[in-house]
Amino acid sequence: MRAEIAMHSSEIAPRYDVVVIGARCAGAATAMLLARAGHRVLVVDRGRYGTDTLSTHALMRGAVVQLHRWGVLPAVIAAGTTPVRQATFFYGNESVSVPIAPRDGIDALYAPRRHVLDRLLVDAARAAGADVVYGVRIKELQRPDGGRVTGVVLEDEAGDVHGVAARVVVGADGMRSAVAGLVGAEAYRVGQHASATMYGHWSDLDADGYGWYFMPGISGGAIPTNDSQVCVSISVPGADFTRLFAHRPDYAFRELLSQVAPELAEQVARAGHARLHGFAGQPGFFRRSHGPGWALVGDAGYFKDPLTAHGITDALRDAELLANAIGEGSDGALADYQEQRDSSSLDVFESTDAIASFNWDLISVRALHERLAKAMSREVKALLAGQKADGKGQREVTSPLAPQ
Ligand SMILES: Cc1cc2nc3c(=O)[nH]c(=O)nc-3n(C[C@H](O)[C@H](O)[C@H](O)COP(=O)(O)OP(=O)(O)OC[C@H]3O[C@@H](n4cnc5c(N)ncnc54)[C@H](O)[C@@H]3O)c2cc1C
Repeated sequence: MRAEIAMHSSEIAPRYDVVVIGARCAGAATAMLLARAGHRVLVVDRGRYGTDTLSTHALMRGAVVQLHRWGVLPAVIAAGTTPVRQATFFYGNESVSVPIAPRDGIDALYAPRRHVLDRLLVDAARAAGADVVYGVRIKELQRPDGGRVTGVVLEDEAGDVHGVAARVVVGADGMRSAVAGLVGAEAYRVGQHASATMYGHWSDLDADGYGWYFMPGISGGAIPTNDSQVCVSISVPGADFTRLFAHRPDYAFRELLSQVAPELAEQVARAGHARLHGFAGQPGFFRRSHGPGWALVGDAGYFKDPLTAHGITDALRDAELLANAIGEGSDGALADYQEQRDSSSLDVFESTDAIASFNWDLISVRALHERLAKAMSREVKALLAGQKADGKGQREVTSPLAPQ
């Protein structure tokens, strides 16, 4: 199956409307929407098809609504992703359960593993006509006279180099974006705090929806996912990561879990060993995300601390904002994209940064969660009300980027 759909770097055409660097949630979704709207799209990734990445994977309502609107949700469900019908917040000994109300076309949330979600979005991009090539990295931008970006120079694993002309180059290449570096996209707003996370996946845990656990200095998460597994995470202030996890990470993980979520810790202890993955932390940022002939989407342009599990949700929102802007075909539309992204994101960004500070008690963190919940519900309303493309290619293609 994989070999069948693999496209080789030798098949890269010399010219596309849009070249997208990075084929995960942001890049694959952007490529899918552009291809559905009739653009000729190449998406490349230096990695491999269907692989995992360093990330837990809880989706918020906005992301599930997008997957539903785009027709990708049935495949997520068919991949055996456990439906999430409530989220429970544990503040010390108190808990607050929030049922997932059936509305906006969905009756549950889902938290697919990244090797599932990213692969399904890539499949959808390819089905819409995008060319997708793995094992290819960006080497340079084509930018005659240092002005408008007019294409890219790509390098495959054999060291062969491919010059590709494009009207827009999209950097969807993650928080350490090479495209951002090549265009000199500066960060104009940065977070003050960074949390560190350790997580693993266990079978045979009894998780009823998302579980979010808080006590001063520690937070935990339980995220039901594919194959009846649950992703269990622990987060601490980034400054504590090395001290806590450098030597006996498994022991430290279980010890911290038993403090913040004792019952879950007992289940994890009974379930046995699982491989742990660690993220030492990175303060959030907004980067300039557009310029003549280029744009950034996903973590490449806007990153926030993972503690509020919102990066994928924002990446899917911004994929659509960007695809619409590229469809409009003007530099001004790209500027509007950045403005829309920022105004929709600021509240989530600020509450997330405050939660990542761990500078809260159990009362003030609840207030931060309430602020976050309000921001998320505004986000879904804006998503449903404001976006033009329905993601199914029914939008009329009038842009100068349309295939000639
Ligand atoms: C520990 C942790 C936990 C998280 N938990 C959650 C969560 O529960 N829910 C949530 O919504 N978000 C979560 N996030 C955030 C989420 O992972 C990101 O927001 C999301 O991955 C952003 O997707 P992206 O497509 O922008 O970038 P990425 O997923 O980083 O993908 C970028 C792609 O670009 C490719 N690439 C990079 N450089 C090049 C190059 N030079 N040439 C070619 N290809 C290149 C990479 O191979 C990669 O495939 C978490 C993050 C972390 C670190």
